[in-house]
Amino acid sequence: MPEIRQNIATKEWVIIATERAKRPEDFTAEQRTPTHLRPPHVATCPFCPGNEAMTPPPSLVRTAADGSWQQRIVPNKFGALSPAAPAVRLEEGVARMTGGYGFHDVLIESPLHNTTTALLAPEEVAATLSALRDRARELARDERIAQIIPFKNHGESAGTSLEHPHCQMVSLPIVPSHIRQRL
Ligand SMILES: [Zn+2]
Repeated sequence: MPEIRQNIATKEWVIIATERAKRPEDFTAEQRTPTHLRPPHVATCPFCPGNEAMTPPPSLVRTAADGSWQQRIVPNKFGALSPAAPAVRLEEGVARMTGGYGFHDVLIESPLHNTTTALLAPEEVAATLSALRDRARELARDERIAQIIPFKNHGESAGTSLEHPHCQMVSLPIVPSHIRQRL
């Protein structure tokens, strides 16, 4: 179960989530395929159409007129936070920690495996952003959630583990110190 601990020197909150180590890896040093050489569909990709059962059930699905999905939001199978974790805050002397309660969503941006955000039509990018907004509004109703952060890691060097175009959103039970200071 993930937990969030505060660095007592910097007041920075750090997520401790050992589950993350188990996530699959598309990228290895030997096999790195440029986007334009990738196939549009990969049978083993959990984000490709037909493989919906490989992800947990979606919290949001946007479909085209023909009924096929265009965007899906699913829980990250190897999430840094979990709605099953306790939302308790513990203080022990100067140490502070909280259970890793929260949500770690993945938004699959397109049914196509071999595209990137930069290659999507403006309407598709707008659909991605509005899907994130709608999901964030839903999560903001949970009073245990203090901060919602959408983000995108593009490419292996940014730390993404799957090729299929996707972005993520974490909903945290704390406000990160760098944001608290600016506020
Ligand atoms: Zn895919």
